[in-house]
Amino acid sequence: MLPKFLPDLEWRSLFTLVGFCLAWGDLVQAQTVIAEPNRITIAYEAPQNPAHRSLAEAMQARRSLELVQTILSPIRLPKPLHIKLAGCDGEINAWFEGQTITLCYEFIEWTVETARKTRKPIEVAEDIAITGTFLEVALHESAHAIFDYLAIPILGREEDAADQMAALWLLSHSGPRTGGFLAGIVNLYLDEAGLKNFKQLNRPKLRFGRATAFSDAHGTPIQRMYNTLCLAYGSDPDAYRAIAEKGALPAERAEGCEGEYRQVTHAFHTLIAPHVDQDLARKVYGNGAPLARP
Ligand SMILES: [Zn+2]
Repeated sequence: MLPKFLPDLEWRSLFTLVGFCLAWGDLVQAQTVIAEPNRITIAYEAPQNPAHRSLAEAMQARRSLELVQTILSPIRLPKPLHIKLAGCDGEINAWFEGQTITLCYEFIEWTVETARKTRKPIEVAEDIAITGTFLEVALHESAHAIFDYLAIPILGREEDAADQMAALWLLSHSGPRTGGFLAGIVNLYLDEAGLKNFKQLNRPKLRFGRATAFSDAHGTPIQRMYNTLCLAYGSDPDAYRAIAEKGALPAERAEGCEGEYRQVTHAFHTLIAPHVDQDLARKVYGNGAPLARP
């Protein structure tokens, strides 16, 4: 029995209103866990070291973080991912933690120094080399974040998987600049290994320092270089013929690279592509790109 002071209709309206509020609450709650594209936020933090000021300005002028934001925009993420350039108290590093990727100005400084060397293993314009190496490290860290956010199962080392993702994104997005980007990345890996040119790769004895260096979660710089070159060559042996012809990739490795590339793209299409907004991906990468659905 309804109280006399409230007519029937108003009670029904009240119930409807309560029901609506509950449903709206559920919807809001559901929306907080719905994965969406365009969830990358970026920031160029003020450098701690005054010597990095011009570096920070140059990265901003190149719209470096915006480029990473665009490349990653089609991936549907369950929560925001923040990518920032920041000072790291002198540490040459980059990492993913919590919901943030930190890319150190100190790391960028090293890529600039390497790109400005007068005698480089591969001649490449400074700007292209810097953008290429920046993208490689930013996309590698982004891969760690995406594996974590989407609980992607990984066979093999996660560091290798992150390198593979970075290479796939580069090959998918960079168009005619890809060759230059790869050259910058190769130069940086060689520099990290203490080598000045490709000939030194054939020295009978390479010094790796302590054997414990092999305990690292990452491959050695030269292994990472060969892995990246192999994926590029495997993605299109005609377009990247020079990689094999100029001896950057030994023939014994080159012959299996198309298979390696197929294996990596198969993993991508099986595990990551279901989380990609395909319409946006076609806009960002173009139709024929490796990351578009086969
Ligand atoms: Zn890593």
